Amino acid sequence: NQVKKDIVIMKPSHSHLKVDLGERSYPIEIGTDLLRDVRLLARTIRGQRIVIITNTVVAPLYLDRLTHSLKEAGKDVSSLILPDGEKEKNWESLMKIFDFLMENKSDRKTTLVALGGGVIGDLTGYAAASFMRGVSFVQVPTTLLAEVDSSVGGKTGINHPLGKNMIGAFYQPEAVIADTTTLNTLHDRELVAGLAEVIKYGAIVDAAFFQWLEKNMEKLLARDSEALAYAIRRSCEIKADIVRQDERESTGLRAILNFGHTFGHAIEAGLGYGEWLHGEAVGCGMVVAADLSCRMGWLDEESGKRIRGLVERAGLPIVAPALGMDRWIELMQVDKKNVGGEIQFVLLKALGDAVVTKVPAELLHATLTDNTAP
Ligand code: NAD
Ligand code: MG
Repeated sequence: NQVKKDIVIMKPSHSHLKVDLGERSYPIEIGTDLLRDVRLLARTIRGQRIVIITNTVVAPLYLDRLTHSLKEAGKDVSSLILPDGEKEKNWESLMKIFDFLMENKSDRKTTLVALGGGVIGDLTGYAAASFMRGVSFVQVPTTLLAEVDSSVGGKTGINHPLGKNMIGAFYQPEAVIADTTTLNTLHDRELVAGLAEVIKYGAIVDAAFFQWLEKNMEKLLARDSEALAYAIRRSCEIKADIVRQDERESTGLRAILNFGHTFGHAIEAGLGYGEWLHGEAVGCGMVVAADLSCRMGWLDEESGKRIRGLVERAGLPIVAPALGMDRWIELMQVDKKNVGGEIQFVLLKALGDAVVTKVPAELLHATLTDNTAP
């Protein structure tokens, strides 16, 4: 596999890595209490005029803290608080951001700061990509999912009433500042959902990281700050390295990040969005994809069991809901990865070695039959 696997161990309280994209390169800062780190914020957020975009859940928790530190750093700060929730990742919220920027006489030098989970990050990033044809933005992710996944890689956008993430742009942030202290207020269910994406990184490119997760799952669930910092750093490293090689999903490499997602998306859409969290659907989707990888004669049974075991220990579902065979196929056919109507799956040749492939219908049917609730 083309993804490099060297781990740089840094001090647990703060580490730094770089997403290497030529002149669009940017740092990812990971550590405890970074929202109080005035010097770090002054260094990583270069603009003078800052507009923080956040929501009604995150604002009471962290907006004052971040505003205070940015003011200490000598910045001019204003903020916009949007309603919370995936359903708000829409055109109306985007317009609220533009209205606010226009009313406050923002200009090309204004920097948008996304303070929140993936919803706020995706929305703010897309607003930054389009306001005056592009202003700087900084990601300050506050959910585990956002810290390991959505804040890194430059996919931004909103939902269309007829489909998730259908309108958007590739637009890289100026920096990602992941303050792991913010995870302390996250609901257990959201933390666990984020762990699904962490497990995914081990499964697709790094068997040693997968093994580390097996050893440290209890610590992660107990929110041990050192364990979380390591898991976040390694996840970002893997995602950054894949994005560096295939920024716009044109070589196929970036598609391996969709391991577990073909089945996962079908579960989310089939049950109705919001019934299962994305991470829960991905966790279960990885178990199903691992089973299919075994049936293809690629993944050994032992590794398949390890994936199922780790997903289960994380507290994620391992049995898919009964959707009916025809509905499964129909739902998987609308996946963005597909070419010419044929469903493309991300499967494993081995633990830490993913491929994008078609599969014989009989094997797919057998997998779905054996992994769904009666
Ligand atoms: P989210 O942003 O809705 O956050 C989940 C919930 O946690 C929300 O209610 C939020 O307000 C709350 N919250 C956030 N931080 C908190 C904190 N520190 N303490 C307590 N509560 C907190 O959901 P998410 O899981 O972070 O992100 C999901 C979104 O990310 C989806 O829209 C998905 O499409 C997108 N996404 C994008 C990418 C990408 O590459 N751009 C990748 C994966 C997911
Ligand atoms: Mg995902």
